[in-house]
Amino acid sequence: MKNKAVFLDRDGTINYDSGYLSDPNKAKLYDGVFEGISLLKNKYNFKIIVISNQSGITRGLMTEMEVIAVNKKINELLSDSIDDFFFCPYHPDFDIYEKTRCRKPSPQMVFDAASKYKIDLNQSFFIGDRETDMICAKSAGTYSILLGTTMNNSEINRLKNSKNSPNFITYNFLDAVKHIQMKLDGEIVEN
Ligand SMILES: [Mg+2]
Repeated sequence: MKNKAVFLDRDGTINYDSGYLSDPNKAKLYDGVFEGISLLKNKYNFKIIVISNQSGITRGLMTEMEVIAVNKKINELLSDSIDDFFFCPYHPDFDIYEKTRCRKPSPQMVFDAASKYKIDLNQSFFIGDRETDMICAKSAGTYSILLGTTMNNSEINRLKNSKNSPNFITYNFLDAVKHIQMKLDGEIVEN
């Protein structure tokens, strides 16, 4: 049997985005993230996988080791509930195309995770705070949930009316998780 996963963007979704976060001690989770991820993992048996662009590495603003240290710290704050972190260190301004193919909105990292953990993407979800996350989710074939915490209203409205419109929009993490629960419990019927 295949696994199902909840893919999570990192900065601006599970932790506050201070911009190129390199100090593990500055990692701070949003309210509801601990409870929400615990529920998804322990009650619903989802794989929890972080999918993150970290171009600060290729920009020379932080090192790969620092990103790994921040990831480790975030996972400690979450009682090690995250199964894996995938991140893309490249950016088209600094790297050749072949390298940048991992970068969201490309679904490449989601596909890599799906093959590593035998994940059924049609049974999986993606929660993120940016249009690139929603494009990535849609291209990968997962259900997409936008946390409207870091975009302004006009950006959200434009996205809502585009072909990349999220399947669901909410403003806090626990509501996103409750929506997933309702879908699994069959209270929301969609095509
Ligand atoms: Mg983000």
